[in-house]
This record gives sequence, structure tokens and C-alpha cells, in this order.
Amino acid sequence: MTIRGGYQPHILRVDLTKQTITKEPLPSESVLRQFVGGVGLGLYYLLKEAPMDVKATDPRAPLMFMTGPLAGTPAPSSCNWVTICFHYSIPYAAGVGHGHGFWAAYLKHAGYEGIIITGKAAKPVYLWIDDDRVSIRDASHVWGMGTRETERRIKLELGDEEKISVACIGQGGESLMPGASVKADRNHGAGKGSPGAIMGSKNLKAIAVRGTGQVPLADSVALLDTVATWEKDMQLPEQMSIYNHLRDGGITRAYIRRGNNYGIAYKNMTDPEGGRSYAQNWVNACKRWKVTPKPSYNCKIGCAYDVQMTDGPLAGYVCSFCGGGENTEGAAAMIGVDNPSYAMMLTDYYDDIGVEAGTFGSVVGMAFEAYNRGWITKTDTGGLALTWGNWEAAMALIQQMLRREGFGAKLAEGLKLAPRILGDEKRLLNEFRKITVHVKGAGVNIHDWRPWWGTLFGQIIAGTGPSHQGLSSDNRPNDEVGYPQLTPGVVDTLEEALKKVDSVRMTQFCKLWWDSLGICWFAVSGVTHGLTSTAQAVRHTVGWDDYTNEEAMAVGERIVNMMRLVYVKRGFQKTEEFDMGPRFLEPAPAGPAKEKTLAPYLGPMVDEYYRQMGWEVATGRPTPTGLRRLGLSALA
Ligand code: SF4
Repeated sequence: MTIRGGYQPHILRVDLTKQTITKEPLPSESVLRQFVGGVGLGLYYLLKEAPMDVKATDPRAPLMFMTGPLAGTPAPSSCNWVTICFHYSIPYAAGVGHGHGFWAAYLKHAGYEGIIITGKAAKPVYLWIDDDRVSIRDASHVWGMGTRETERRIKLELGDEEKISVACIGQGGESLMPGASVKADRNHGAGKGSPGAIMGSKNLKAIAVRGTGQVPLADSVALLDTVATWEKDMQLPEQMSIYNHLRDGGITRAYIRRGNNYGIAYKNMTDPEGGRSYAQNWVNACKRWKVTPKPSYNCKIGCAYDVQMTDGPLAGYVCSFCGGGENTEGAAAMIGVDNPSYAMMLTDYYDDIGVEAGTFGSVVGMAFEAYNRGWITKTDTGGLALTWGNWEAAMALIQQMLRREGFGAKLAEGLKLAPRILGDEKRLLNEFRKITVHVKGAGVNIHDWRPWWGTLFGQIIAGTGPSHQGLSSDNRPNDEVGYPQLTPGVVDTLEEALKKVDSVRMTQFCKLWWDSLGICWFAVSGVTHGLTSTAQAVRHTVGWDDYTNEEAMAVGERIVNMMRLVYVKRGFQKTEEFDMGPRFLEPAPAGPAKEKTLAPYLGPMVDEYYRQMGWEVATGRPTPTGLRRLGLSALA
């Protein structure tokens, strides 16, 4: 067993307090084979060396950026970078975010698998990685700027706009906003766990990277063969691959389907019918306007895109988006802004200040619903009329949040504290809690998931706070893990509901394996043989000739258990599994989830999930036997 490719030799360690940079060899091959890279390797370091009793923003708490053995190789969409930290909004969880673009490939080409950052700089700084030359530089001149301008200025300063990628925070991260993201290459960013707030707490504004090397490959001919088959599979018609669904900025065409399925989180999830016309308006506008796909490194899908508005009140304005619909649902649909000009501008603004729409947008959505219900008035908001669709008031409110001023300062406390503050003031505590869309205090990947109970359960049970880990077969089939066809999203009996648990668990293992490789999940989701192709690609890239699908799935299972170990070490209690805003458990006003809800089945589904994971049903803790089987005893 020898590593012959895929991995670069070093992890970069940066201590911002001491201003030191060290290049550290990777862990042993047996460790790499167990944890692989990306989220797996990041959690390995987190469990091995981070103090478990500190807050996410404590200088001793690490912020990591990890890639994976396929990043920067010819594998499809080989551009995934993962942020790993303690979760900013969930005190017992790790936070894991994913970003794409070019940054991960360039980091690999510079010779590094990842970066582990601890400490806190005395003043704003950025990190400049230029192949083997790594330095910490002053960032005072870009502090206070948005992500787009920061990226532009740093590239100009470093004198190379083409070959440098910049991952940075905006005002959201600087002001430690819940949901603050790290953005890179304009159209991409990582938001889950609020890594932008962790960067802000460390006074780290950006990480610029240029890499001119290559990733070694154990068997390049065999890898290219695998890649050819993988890409052919991805493009097979009739299957629910992201290639078929979102190719070339495809959400600008495909968004209608989500609307018609009552899946748009419109007006704080009170109006799925309104969501249908929201999606239709977006698609109609994109038909007239100029849409330019912006593919990431080595990506044939190109779901990310720019839109130049050619008519309407903002004609000439260019917006830059990533590929899904969550960004705009959190920023604009949640508050009922259905004019596409303003909806796009608001979405673009979220990305510029660097905030993730599911968390930040849900807090704003809660305030808008409270205003429209008459629970708060202009007297409370300092004169802002938060009527549905009032994008100007939303902009003003966001500014207040970033400055932590006035009414905005209360919302800046996040999805758990903000409703408590407002509810206490109005003596309507339960009412405010009821309209706040969150799971465990963090924002979900914001769509209306009520018509898809498997996916919703996957968000609830995800081991790093709500996120796409186990999508289940409600949303996308995965024949290799036993679910070749879509399953109905809403069911009628407990027996049928319990059947969803295994599909969530198996797709979770598969997804977390993919998240350890350094590829974008969109290159494999819904793709025939997505598991086999990736296991094969690792064989040919790294040189682990006997790597099997079973070993790959075991990596996923190991990662789920590592996430749970962080929970346990940081004080998780089983009751917290059910800590969520009740809106997701209410029947939807329209669509397949009308008059139906996951609520009565959730408790038994959680117990069943614990049983299938081999965890104690009473506590949700992994057992020593299970941990030993997975090789995790030392980390436990
Ligand atoms: S599919 Fe979209 S997010 Fe993924 S790598 Fe390609 S452009 Fe980036």
C-alpha cells in the first residue's frame, strides 16, 4: 500500500497570534485511507487536537480549509474546498461548509492538501500562498469592503488577476453575523457553520492562492478512462443528474419545476403558491436577460452563472450567482420580493457582504412575517415598513444588522436569540418561536422541504447542523446504495415513514464519501455509478489499487460517527435533536404536504436512525463497540 498520487505533501499550519506558518507533513497513509480528505480529514484534525470546551470564535479553536485527493486532478468538477470549524450557531456541533470555483485546485497545485488556522491576528491580515512562498500580509485597506471588491483589490495588489484565486469574507464575516460565509471566485462560497464569522473573529480577511504545479497521478491513463465513463454517465439522458438539470446556469430554466412542486420557501414559507410565480418570474426574466455560465475548475456542468439585466429598473446591472435556488430564496423569496430585478439584486448583495441565505435570510424572514402579522410595527423597527416585498426596507435592515444598530442589532443575534428578544419584548415568545425557520439554531438549505420528508429528515439529522448530507431517495435516486427510483416525498403511515430512515442514512454515507474527495457533489449526485466511478478514480489517482465501494461507504459511516463524537464531547443531549422551528413540522398551505406533516413520525424516525447507526437509542451516543469497528476508538 503506497501513495503514488492524489495527495500533495503538506498541510499548512498558520498561527495568527504568533504570526507563524509551518508546512507539516500529511498524517500516515493508514490515517489518510481511513479519513481520505475534505470533511473526513478535517474532522480527524478537529477531534484529535482542538480543545472541545471552547467557543467557535475562541482563538484556540481552529478554522480549516481542506481539499481532497481528487481536487485539482482531471476528475470532473475537481474543485471542492471544505471549511471545518466549530459551528457558530450550534454550540455542540462542528460546522462544515463547501465552496467551489478555482481556489481548491490552485491550493493543490501550490502543494497543499489543506490549511489549519488558529490564533487571532492583532490587526486585519490576509494570507498569500504563492506556491511554496507563504506570507501573512496586512489587510487593513480591504477591511470593511465587500467580497467582490476585496477579491478585485487583492488580485490587483498581487499583480495577477488570472491565476490567483481569493477566498475572503465581507462585512458579514467582519461583524460576526450568524450565517457569515467565505466567498471565492465571485460565484462561489461556503456558508454552513458560519465560517466567515470564524474568519472575522481571527481578523483574517482573505486567503489568496496561486499554484503553478500539478497533482501527481498514480495511473493517469486509467484515471482518464474512468473520467470518460463518469462523464458519459453524467450526461445520460433521462436520469436526474445535476448535469441534466442545471447545466449552463440551468436553474435559470429549471427553477419552474421546484415552484410547481411547491418547493419554494416564499414569504417565510407561508405561501407556496406565491413561490410558483416567484420561480416563473425568475425564469421569464432570465429568458430576456443575458445569462453567462461560470463553470468552476474542470467543470462541464457550469451551474454557476452571471446575469446581466437588459431591461427593467436595474438594466445594466450584472449579478453573480452560484447554481442552486437557495441563495435567492433566503435573500428575496423569504420576504416576498417577487420582482426579479430586485430579487436578483438582493441575492447578489447577500453574496457581496458574504452571508449565507438560509441562516441570515431566515432571521430577516421571521421579522417580515412578524411585521405583517402586526406583532411589530414601525415603532419597533425604527420606521422600517417590513411589508412583504419591500426590498428597500430589507436593505436598510441588513445595514442595521451589519452595524448592529437599532432593530437590526436584535436580529443580528441569530435564529435562536432574536425571536427570544422580540418575543420577550412583546410577550409573544411562543408566537415568535413558531415563525422562526431553523433547525438546532441554524438555517437549512433554504427551500420548502415539507413535500419531501426524507430530505427534511436528512436536514434534521445531519451531523453538522442542517445541511445536505442525506438527501434520501425522495429527491434523487441512488441505485448503488439500494434506491434506484424516486420515493414519494409524503407518506401516510408510520411504517412508510420509517422506511425513509435507511435511505437517508445510506445517501448520507455516500454524500460524505464524496465530500472527502475534493470534487463538487453536483458531478455525482443522481449519476449512475457515481459511487463506483469515484472509488475507481481514487484507485487510479492515489494508487490504492484495492479500494472498493464498500470501503468508500465505510468512510462515510466513519464521518457520520465523527460528527456525532463532536456532538457528544461538546455536551449534546438527545432532546436537542428535536430543537427546530415548528414551521417545517406544520402542514403546508398547499401542495402534497397540505394537511400532512412529518411531526408524528419524527420521534420514531430519530430512534430508528439511532438504531440503524448502532447508537444508544436513549442518548444518541455511539457505542464503544461501534467506534472500535470503525477504527475511531482513539479519537473517542
Ligand atoms: S457544478 Fe456548479 S458548483 Fe459544482 S463545480 Fe460546477 S459550476 Fe461549480
